Parts: sequence; C-alpha cells; structure tokens
Amino acid sequence: MTQAFTRREALRLGGAATALSLAGKLPLAGTTAAAQPGAGWPDLEACRNGRYVLPPLPYAYDALAPLCEERMLRIHHDKHHAGYVKGLNATLGALAVARDGGDWGRIKALSRNLAFHGSGHILHTLFWHSMRPARAETEVPRLLAKAMVGSFGSVAKAKAQFVAATNAVEGSGWGVLAYEPLAEKLLVCQAEKHQNLTVWGATPILVCDVWEHAYYLQYQNRRSQWVEAFINLANWQFAEQRLAACRQG
Ligand code: MN
Repeated sequence: MTQAFTRREALRLGGAATALSLAGKLPLAGTTAAAQPGAGWPDLEACRNGRYVLPPLPYAYDALAPLCEERMLRIHHDKHHAGYVKGLNATLGALAVARDGGDWGRIKALSRNLAFHGSGHILHTLFWHSMRPARAETEVPRLLAKAMVGSFGSVAKAKAQFVAATNAVEGSGWGVLAYEPLAEKLLVCQAEKHQNLTVWGATPILVCDVWEHAYYLQYQNRRSQWVEAFINLANWQFAEQRLAACRQG
C-alpha cells in the first residue's frame, strides 16, 4: 500500500525528510517491488509494541546494481541498520530502568547511545529512500529545484555543495540536505558519525542552553543551579504548542 508523502510523515522523520518531501513522490514500499516514479512514501511501521522496527528496503536488494551491488546493500541493511534498531531499543529499555529506579548514574552514556543508535536508525531509513533504481526519474523536480535556487543559487550549486561537503566529512559520517524550518531554507550539513549527541529527525520543542555564557555571570560553575532555575522558568505551554504543530504537520 502506498500513499502520498505528507508533511506529517516528513516531520516524523525530521528535517532531512522534510527536505526530501520537496522532491515530491518517493519510491514504492515493499522488499521486492521496483521503485516507481510517482509512488508514495511507504506507510512505515516505525514502532511495534513500543519498540522500533527495521523497515524493509523500498526496492529489491539488487535494484541499485551495478552502482550499489546487492551484496553490499544486503549487509548494510540487514546487519548494520538492524544493529542500530537493536541498539536503540536496548537503550530505551535501559533508560526506562533508570527512570523507574531514579538511578541517573549512566545518563551520560545512555544519552550518548540514544543519539548514536537513534540517529543511525533514522538516517539509514532516510538513506534507503534517498536512492532509486537507475531507470527511474533523474531530474530534480520543480518544487525542489525552486527551493534549491532560493537557498543555493541554482540546482547545480546545490549539488556541488552537497558533493563537496559529503566528500569532506571528517572520518565516518553523512552528507545531509536538510530543511531548516525557522527561515524555511535548505541547508547542506555534514554529520560526523551519525549524531554528535543529537537525534536527526527529532524536532526540538524545549531547549536549555548550558554553554557557560548562559549562566556563568550569575551561577559561575554551578551549572546544576542554573538547570534547576531553568526548569522553574520553563514555558511548557510553548513546548505543547510546538508538539501540537509537529503532530499536525
Ligand atoms: Mn551505514
């Protein structure tokens, strides 16, 4: 079953997916179906019984050959991507145990694991849909092209910046074409590893600055006092409005 790629689904997968949504229709779901231009984003089952699940490839394992051969794609999806899903679920389980026991001794490591596995899972889910079989449409569609011209000057410059940034990623990482909703601009970003402590696709709804400039004049080195003050200042109504906006898409 396919359906149109809606803004809600784009938001579910976050900024990078939102940028992709500008590309219009995405390939057909299903492990054996060949991607077809005009087919919609799959109705992904993101969670089952509260646990993340590994989505199937949106095309056959050999659909991207010879540019991306079957053996490589099979290991990448079935082993590497599956590993991030497993790690994400394990981390969420460990966080639930920590919450129940009020034991925050591992919170830094668990937050790090959440970012690593969460971003790894979301980026790979986007990655499979970021490619299509060679015979499919190759033109940048009109709406995306217009957005690229507005943000980068031209489609060619957008592609050139994406290629340059991706080639220049230090160590392991990703090139990311992203939609920045504040100014409604497209941006090209690099990601080192998957995450650097964010989860790609998660939309911030409440944030607390803990750079020293945010608290040092008043609290000096007592960051925890500033965080406690922030919690008392927090605008939960704003957070709820942001949450509602994300859900409505
Ligand atoms: Mn990978």
